[in-house]
Amino acid sequence: MSRVRVLDEETISHIAAGEVVERAASVVKELVENAVDADARSIRIGISADKTGITRISVTDDGVGMDFDDALLAFRQHATSKISRPEDLDGITTLGFRGEALASIAAISKVTFTTKERDSPNPEATRVVIHGGELISHAAVGAPEGTSVIIEALFYNTPARRKFQKSVPTELSHVYDMVERIALSNRDAAFVLLYNGKERFQTFGTGSFPDAIAAVFGSSFSKELTRVSGSFGPVKIDGWITRPGSEMKTTQTRFYLAVNGRQVTSRQLQWAIREGYGTLLPKGMFPAAFLDITLDPREVDVNVHPTKREIRLSREREVMRSVQDAVYQALHEERVFSPADPAPARERVMTLSAEIVGEPVQAYAVRREARQAPLKQTEKQLRRTEGADLPETDQFVPEVLGQIWDTYILAKNEVGDLIVVDQHAAHERIMYDQLLARASSAESGQELIVPQPVTLTKKEAAALPDLLDVLAAAGYLLEPFGKEVWMVRSVPVVSSTLGDPEVIHAILAAALEGVGSTDEVLDRVLKTAACRAVVKGNTPLTLGQMQRLLRQLMATKSPYTCPHGRPTTIVLSKSRLAGMFLRT
Ligand code: ADP
Ligand code: MG
Repeated sequence: MSRVRVLDEETISHIAAGEVVERAASVVKELVENAVDADARSIRIGISADKTGITRISVTDDGVGMDFDDALLAFRQHATSKISRPEDLDGITTLGFRGEALASIAAISKVTFTTKERDSPNPEATRVVIHGGELISHAAVGAPEGTSVIIEALFYNTPARRKFQKSVPTELSHVYDMVERIALSNRDAAFVLLYNGKERFQTFGTGSFPDAIAAVFGSSFSKELTRVSGSFGPVKIDGWITRPGSEMKTTQTRFYLAVNGRQVTSRQLQWAIREGYGTLLPKGMFPAAFLDITLDPREVDVNVHPTKREIRLSREREVMRSVQDAVYQALHEERVFSPADPAPARERVMTLSAEIVGEPVQAYAVRREARQAPLKQTEKQLRRTEGADLPETDQFVPEVLGQIWDTYILAKNEVGDLIVVDQHAAHERIMYDQLLARASSAESGQELIVPQPVTLTKKEAAALPDLLDVLAAAGYLLEPFGKEVWMVRSVPVVSSTLGDPEVIHAILAAALEGVGSTDEVLDRVLKTAACRAVVKGNTPLTLGQMQRLLRQLMATKSPYTCPHGRPTTIVLSKSRLAGMFLRT
């Protein structure tokens, strides 16, 4: 006897509904998102409840509405106006797209759906009534433009799901949370939420972020926030975060992230924001954050989770770093410049380092152009040692104050002492440790896509065959190609540009300089390779870059000396300065 059978339509629709509709708040989410997608300016949400639970949910909008036929079609599974071809999935800009919500909701409740198409010659509206997936009526009625959906008897035919509903206050708090999130990320629409006929909250659709935050959480709360905005790499960021020194919470409440207008949860993005605060965030405390993140929609996959709250980013690492930099910059500008300062974010940060150097700001502005190129180069160099994520460290990471002579980082350490860090020596320590960790392992080298020819001097060519093993341990594979020409086939993993002939000459010079055991020669090779691949002196760094460098440094085993044994860091304690100023 066959035991496998294809499920009937009703069972299928209940399964689909189970994925989309978990609780009353899911219904509210789907209906309100439909209103937003329908270009509504005004969205009114009504919730009624008694002792038995939530009894009625209504959402009314003034959006584009639908005609007679579409109003019914919209309740078919996989019926949507938002996409039509597989390619459309790669660039979704609406909140809905699967065409599942209305069908799912209608399968497990009693729905009254009234809609009138905007700007249509037909003066009539349409009403569709469906109970548990069964069409009760489909008729023309009189109603204003827009759409009104009433949901009653939610889960009446799915007792298991009904049993999982929590108390009315709990379910309500989920509804409020959902509506707040959608209202905060759709600020052009005005939202009103009523509970048992009483208004619970309202936004005004002014388009302004602070207005929306103030409407939801009160204006005194919104005053504790500071602006984050700008373009950082592939990402545009706009929003507000807790100003340092304001009250913070011990849990992550008031944390709102929207990616391309869609509310999402992302532990990684939360992490990036907290990292951006660095030492400004007291231990165990959480800032509030309201951030709109705009990315090329093709970089975002929203089709990974039934409720679409989780997303996948194709350039996650870059996005994380951009968010972190944005937060970092916002917080550090705040402390030095008045909020009225009109200069765009990036310029301001760089002006800050110029001021510490003591240059007049104007003269600096002229030089700004010239500074862009080294910043990019520095970014590449820093990323070489950074890996996928900024390294974890238990050590306190000093807080960057600025840069001086484009060569030293000024920072404040754990006990508040002023420290001066040699940026080159610091990065050398980081790079050397990583090269050493990989040396002699199978992972020391990475093959160059295009082998790099190097023309050697007679002396180099003569010595090279004896050095091949040491070089291979460091990650360099060289092969003879002609009499004095050799091909560089692989270079150490952490650095992709070390195939540069000039670097090869320097490496050979280091290897040939004096005698020594194999280990000593390897050490000299690694030090030279490290030195060539890292951030140099006389190079301007942004505050974010300096902070990342210090974090990388603190994650090394001996952060205070460079591989050559020179110090990376000098501490100017308060008492030492007092002594220098002859204060007693
Ligand atoms: P999706 O939003 O994924 O397209 P839904 O089942 O939520 O799927 O809605 C189906 C279709 O019904 C939508 O694509 C849209 O065309 C239409 N629709 C739903 N709600 C509204 C509304 N409030 N105003 C106008 N059209 C709506
Ligand atoms: Mg929808």
